[in-house]
Amino acid sequence: CGIVGYIGPKQAQEVLISGLSKLEYRGYDSAGVAIGDGACITVKKKAGKLANLSGELAAQPLAGTMGIGHTRWATHGLPNDTNSHPHATEDGQIVIVHNGIIENYLSLKEGLMGRGHTFKSETDSEVLAHLIEEAYQGDLEGAVRTALSQVRGAYGIVVTHVNHREIVAARTVSPLVMGVGEGEMFLASDVPALLAYTRKMVFLHDGDMVVLNDDGYRVTDLAGTALQRPVETIEWDA
Ligand code: GLU
Repeated sequence: CGIVGYIGPKQAQEVLISGLSKLEYRGYDSAGVAIGDGACITVKKKAGKLANLSGELAAQPLAGTMGIGHTRWATHGLPNDTNSHPHATEDGQIVIVHNGIIENYLSLKEGLMGRGHTFKSETDSEVLAHLIEEAYQGDLEGAVRTALSQVRGAYGIVVTHVNHREIVAARTVSPLVMGVGEGEMFLASDVPALLAYTRKMVFLHDGDMVVLNDDGYRVTDLAGTALQRPVETIEWDA
């Protein structure tokens, strides 16, 4: 339902929780974050109000300057801690958040289980983490592209890998907007999540993919062709 991503010099936890709180008005049943510190990515997620998660994080902060966050509106699988996003691979190296519905997730899941993957959640979204893992050979962007070529449905997806100082994202139907900062980059499913940090926004179109790092971003289509998207300045307040 709601997505926030951050890469830059700030502690990601503050940016993610602040951003997710601005998306609460949309409704949700659970919330979670994944924060990377270079050595590992730690996932923390809780069913219920964002305050449940932010309370635990305030008591035991997750250090790290790259992260992704999600508020879930369950479509496949009960609203519980396990089904909350982010979803990680078994080795914890690849972590994703997803908005929307993967229509063909059951057949993808059967195939992945047949090839040895073990699933933790009942969500449609978890197949994305496993498909990316299966395609991964050192190039995260390429692996996300290969994974997305197999899915049908609606997605705003944001992906991190423990060995990469970058965030890869893509959208079809579900919205995603990028916030452009000075030496930092942001992502969200809607503008209000980012207005406290930047007013420079790039609206991603259907079928766009983007790779963010500390210094900037590059947009391509799903086939990998470079695209230009204008940076717009938001004049209004949330
Ligand atoms: N279909 C996914 C799930 O049920 C994502 C729902 C959402 O957009 O929040 O977990």
